[in-house]
Parts: sequence; structure tokens; C-alpha cells
Amino acid sequence: MRQLLWAWGLLVVGAGSVAGQTVAIRAGRLIDGTGAAPVRNAVILVADGRITAVGPDVRVPAGTPMIDLSAFTVLPGLIDAHVHMTGPVLGEPGWENALVREAPADAALRGADHARRTLEAGFTTVRNVGASGFADVALRDAINAGRVPGPRMLVAAHSLGITGGHCDLSNGFVPHVLGEDPGPERGMADGPDAIRAAVRYQVKHGADVIKICATGGVLSEGDSVGVQQYMADELAAVVEAARMVERRVAAHAHGTAGIKAAVRAGVHSIEHGSILDDEAVALMKEHGTYLVPTLTAGEAVERLAQRGIITGERADKALAVAPKMRESIRMAVTAGVKIALGTDAGVMAHGTNGHELTLMVEWGGMTPMQAIVVGTSAAADLLGWSGHIGTVAPGRYADLVAVRRDPLADITALESVDWVMKGGEVVKGGPAGGRTGGP
Ligand SMILES: [Zn+2]
Repeated sequence: MRQLLWAWGLLVVGAGSVAGQTVAIRAGRLIDGTGAAPVRNAVILVADGRITAVGPDVRVPAGTPMIDLSAFTVLPGLIDAHVHMTGPVLGEPGWENALVREAPADAALRGADHARRTLEAGFTTVRNVGASGFADVALRDAINAGRVPGPRMLVAAHSLGITGGHCDLSNGFVPHVLGEDPGPERGMADGPDAIRAAVRYQVKHGADVIKICATGGVLSEGDSVGVQQYMADELAAVVEAARMVERRVAAHAHGTAGIKAAVRAGVHSIEHGSILDDEAVALMKEHGTYLVPTLTAGEAVERLAQRGIITGERADKALAVAPKMRESIRMAVTAGVKIALGTDAGVMAHGTNGHELTLMVEWGGMTPMQAIVVGTSAAADLLGWSGHIGTVAPGRYADLVAVRRDPLADITALESVDWVMKGGEVVKGGPAGGRTGGP
């Protein structure tokens, strides 16, 4: 049986992909995510949601259903190490007051919509670095159980931050409008003892990773974007408390002093890293710290400020930080700092995550292949999931994307992928995806 799928000629010979079934994929060109040169006419064998064999000489057992992607370039499913899937998208109606008008249930349902858009954009894994009410934990679990479509998720639950700092979402509201002032349960933690309590509480309720706000931010009220907000003893406490419960730490840090302090304390990644200097770059290289540059967010807030959708101090900060981000990514790429793709989706629309690859080439000066590695195997390494995702290799999940255009000639091809498979199931561009399996 040959079934013609979609006008652009994707062929599936035999049945579509079904969880548990063996399926073969014929790739016109395979980019495996390691940075190795593309392989022509590769075959990928998939069984029980995992890749079992890959290469140009793979023998396909008789009767195995074949997905014919010989007119496409196939790559690993993309990974976004910095998203906020459960909140409103910046600038959409009501975004500023969602905190007092929406319950965690609203956030979880909003997250389900954002998760589907993200998956259909080819991002088969995300790290959600900050959410209210454990809505991200609920979303991750619903995706893993196959109740809603979405990417694999590592989640941080509530971001940890100082009272009145970037991660204190009650800034600017009158006291007690949110009930009691938030404490460690909601991520507000001043001093090492409160920080330890906050780490343990987030982990108890489902956090896979710990997110802290080491400096001020663009969208918070009452702080300057560059200022350091956690002290050295507090940063040491968060890293040690997280290590003892086997979690990594992602540190939001725009300003140079906060970046250096967080790197010295041993965080695993600097999120944004907007204002680097030579010493910060050297420290990141020395400690092996990842930079998650969120260039898409920098571009988005600059545009929203120019259009008057964000105003006042937020707009001033956005306009100041975006040019710094463009300088810093160049410095980091030139120096060979480890970089993992992260967008800060939620600042811009979910499903536009692939634009980050374009900006890594345009702003950062990466080659398209370097950008692809940053969005696949490097991000998998940061997440601690290299054995499962990020490359097309035996043993990895069959998380794959395919594009008709050549991403090595034009990286914008990855802004709109044609075909997506997660865990061996086609979720875009083929037979109706149905259930998506969890990790
Ligand atoms: Zn963020």
C-alpha cells in the first residue's frame, strides 16, 4: 500500500508510525546533531520509540513500514533550554494582570496550547525555567501521560529570587494583594536557610532543575537590569542545596558582576548573559558554564519597546540591553564558551523558537552547523539528557524533524519545519499524530 501524504509528496509505504512498531525512515540527507558532516541517503530504524540503527548501509528488515523523507534533510528534534510555557505571552491582552486574574488551572491550560505549538515547531524537548502554582509540573506530567501533545519537559517550578527582585512577581502590586507575601514555597528566598528551604520545596513538588534570579531583569519593576541580586553566600547555598538533591542550577543573569558571582558559585548555566566582559567569558570557559543567550527575547523586547507596547523603565531597560546582547553573543562565540539554545519563549510567541537559530547565525556569527549543534546536542548536554536526546544515534529517542529547504544554506529553514516525530510518532506532516509518548 502506498499512500501519498500532503501535496508536497511525503510518502509513507505501509502503515504510519505507531508506538511500539518498527519503522524505517529514509532521509535524503541526515544532520545527526554532533556537528559531523551530513550523510546522504541515510536510513534510520526506529522501534519502541527509540532509534535502533542509523546510517547509509542500514539493512531494513522485509515488511518494515518506510517513511520516505528522501526529498528532505532530517535532523534531531530541536531543544529549547529556556521557555515559560504556562504564563501569558508578553504584550497579549491582560498579560500584566494575569497574576491576580488567573489561577494555576488557567496557567496549565494555557501551557497545553503553548506546548502543542512548540512541538509542532520541531522543538521536541524544552526546559521550563519558572512557572507559578506548579502548573509546569502538571503540564509535564500530562504530556508524559499522553493526555496532551507537547515536548518532553524539564521544569523548574517557581524561580528563586530575592524579595523585590526580578523573580518577585508581586513587585508593584499593593502589599497582600496576593494574600501573604510570597515565601520559599513561591520562590521568594532571602538568605541561605530560606534558599535551602525553597530548593527542597520546589523539588518535593516536582522540579527537575532549579532556576534562580542572580541579577535584575528587563521586565521586572523597580530594579536595574544589570544589578546583582543574590550574594555569594546565597549563590553557594543554592548550588549546594541543589547538588544534594541531584538538580542543576540555571541562573538568570544580565549584569556582569552577577554573571561572575553565579559562575564562581558553580551554576550550570547563565541565562541571557547580556553584559559579558573578558573576565566573565574567561570564567565561563574555566568552569565549563553554559550560556543560554535568549537572543529572540532580546529582539522581541526591543521591538515591543520601540512600538510602545512595553513602556517606562521596562522599555528603557529593553532598549539598553538588546545592543549589549548582540555584543556579548559575539564575544562568547569567538571565545568558544559552551552555548545551548534558549529563547525565553513567552516573551515572544511559542512556536517561533526556531528564530533563535537564525539570530545565532546573524548576531552571533555562528555557522548554520554550529547553530544546529547548539540547538540539539549541546542543549541536551546542558539538560543532562545526552543519552536520550540531541543526536540521531542508536539508543536515543526517535525525536526527529525534517525540512525540505537546506538549513546549511539558509538557517531560516528551521523556523518552519515540515515534519516532526517525537518518540517514534509522527506529530506533524504525516498520519495524524495521536498520542505523544513521554520520556
Ligand atoms: Zn526567562
